[in-house]
Amino acid sequence: MNKRDFIKKIGLTTMAVSAMPSLIFAKKDNSISSFDSKMRYWVWHNPDPNESEEAMKKRFSMYKNYGITGIFFEADHEQAFRIAKSFGLETHRWIWIMNRNDKTLMKDHPDWFTVSRKGENCVEKPPYVDYYRWVCPNKKEVQQYLKDLVTKEAAKDYVDGIHLDYIRFCDVILPVDLWKNYNLIQTQELPEFDFCYCETCRSKYKNLTGIDIKQVAYPSDSPSWLQFRFDSITNIVNMLSNEVKNIHKKKITAAVFPTPFIAKRNVRQDWVNWHLDGICPMIYHSFYKENTPWIETATKDGVEALKDTFPLYAGLYLPAFKDESDLETGIRHALKGGAKGISLFSSPDEKHLKTLQKVIQK
Ligand SMILES: [Zn+2]
Repeated sequence: MNKRDFIKKIGLTTMAVSAMPSLIFAKKDNSISSFDSKMRYWVWHNPDPNESEEAMKKRFSMYKNYGITGIFFEADHEQAFRIAKSFGLETHRWIWIMNRNDKTLMKDHPDWFTVSRKGENCVEKPPYVDYYRWVCPNKKEVQQYLKDLVTKEAAKDYVDGIHLDYIRFCDVILPVDLWKNYNLIQTQELPEFDFCYCETCRSKYKNLTGIDIKQVAYPSDSPSWLQFRFDSITNIVNMLSNEVKNIHKKKITAAVFPTPFIAKRNVRQDWVNWHLDGICPMIYHSFYKENTPWIETATKDGVEALKDTFPLYAGLYLPAFKDESDLETGIRHALKGGAKGISLFSSPDEKHLKTLQKVIQK
């Protein structure tokens, strides 16, 4: 099931170049990002294996003509990548990382999957939805598996970059607009959605701190346990980033939760400290029951936290906008908040693209 199906399934209907000289940014770890200061406009795209060559040419030329500069492809499709490249679009392979709903993997390595505070493995009891099957970031075998998965894609000559998605723990707290879909009130961290309490995580944390997390009465309020989980995901990102950037000389970006605070609180993402070439926070305002101007607040929050280490492209959820004028307002707010571009979800039509072009042409 892809994201679009998930959103359909849970019934969310109310919810979305100019060439400049290259610059380099000094990163916090004193390494150098190769990323430049160009504005970029992206589309998250799930390629249809049955789409004709003619239809693909029409789609990608339309994207290009309205100002889109790159595509995040949710599946491998060599022909689609090559056609997109022929129109001058950047082609990035969008990969689900920690959420691995793979039957063979679950059958062969059930012990690679995360365990909740309640003690349930997500192979046996997936949280929220059937396809939520999260692997544990602290197991060496999982790390090797993810490295192989990503490097295989990065090695392809028609892939310009890797786009990480589901690069996090399972949502311990869902965005507030989704609570009603599960009859949940998540004003506190509930044990069945809180991960990972497997033996590997427990012993690694104990070695670092001397604390057995199972003996802690209120693990949600343990700063070191929270930090341990942030670091567990950051380590995966930086390991993958090293492979993609330093070995394959490709770009790496990620789709993340909308602000540094929400990302840490809901899914243990400390994305400000990742080694990336760019980030696409999913600033899906309706998920948080916010109005369109909140896009600027959220964007600014991320941009200020990043301190120019890498660019932020505001992810907008198209079905969240009432009409083209509302979308235009949203794009303007993102750019005013300091975004170096926009990423659109899902399936922009010509009207959406015209709206984008109207804003970015000026
Ligand atoms: Zn674990």
